[in-house]
Amino acid sequence: MSNLERRPEETPTGGLATVSHDPVRRVLAPREVPLGGPRGMVVRRTLPHRELRTVGAWCFCDDYGPSDPAEHPMVVPPHPHTGLQTVTWLLSGEVLHQDSLGSEQVVRPGSLNLMTAGRGIAHAETSTPGSPDLRGLQLWVALPDPDRDGDPGFEHHAELPVLADGGLTATVLLGRLGDVESPASAYTPIVGADVSVGPEGSGTLPLDPAWEHAVLALDDGVRLGGEPLPTGSLAYLGCGRDGVDLSGTAAHAARAMLLGGEPFEEELLMWWNFVGRSHDEVAAARAEWTSAVEGAATRFGRVEAYDGPALLAPELPGTRLRPRGRG
Ligand code: MN
Repeated sequence: MSNLERRPEETPTGGLATVSHDPVRRVLAPREVPLGGPRGMVVRRTLPHRELRTVGAWCFCDDYGPSDPAEHPMVVPPHPHTGLQTVTWLLSGEVLHQDSLGSEQVVRPGSLNLMTAGRGIAHAETSTPGSPDLRGLQLWVALPDPDRDGDPGFEHHAELPVLADGGLTATVLLGRLGDVESPASAYTPIVGADVSVGPEGSGTLPLDPAWEHAVLALDDGVRLGGEPLPTGSLAYLGCGRDGVDLSGTAAHAARAMLLGGEPFEEELLMWWNFVGRSHDEVAAARAEWTSAVEGAATRFGRVEAYDGPALLAPELPGTRLRPRGRG
């Protein structure tokens, strides 16, 4: 999906955006962001957050729905990305992905659409006409310096490995959880896993103590180390843990997304759909996309399969954008 905010705010610098090298439990509430348009969806965004820039290389986390696509269709026209991977993960519904490499792929719950933007790609995402209610996550992963100008790519993974412990099952979308490794391409030491615990079930997720981790509660049955975690909130756990206990309640199964990885130390400048390092780089990407919309051949290519106009980039702010580090 796209960051459709018409005035994408510059992500703030400094503040509490530091890596905790010790275990912590800081619960961050999502902010509600309208994606634009009279029938547009509202998403719950927990990354980037005023208090947390990234978790590992995870740099963007939107949780949306459930919504009826007949009433509120997802229609995200062609738009560009640079310097990141987009991870599309659905809990319900169907979304069609079309990109400038010619990929066309419907994604459904349990399978992964992973797009690696590298130096530049364009894509469109739309809910399918008969889709059930849509609930999903749009996640971005920042690419590290050696890989961020690489070739764009698209992968679909219908088969993903599962780790089971007690009453807990974890589907590993990206990276590695314990001994279980996703086949999807990753460029930094990272984990993303969709975790389910049955009613009154519990289990332990193995964590790498050198990595930082966070848990996003996808429903209201999630207990983290025995403590309830409100739906939609992201609990930042810091580094220094070798495991975390997840449990459900008597009434509810629990569903959560584990995000983690080696702390990403490079400065990042995230603006609109670009993940770069400097104002000039992001301004150049914006200018090139504007010429692409006007018909020029650019690094972003063209989403030939999409019938309709592309998204225009918002105006840059009047001041220079600044990258944001991790302390
Ligand atoms: Mn997108």
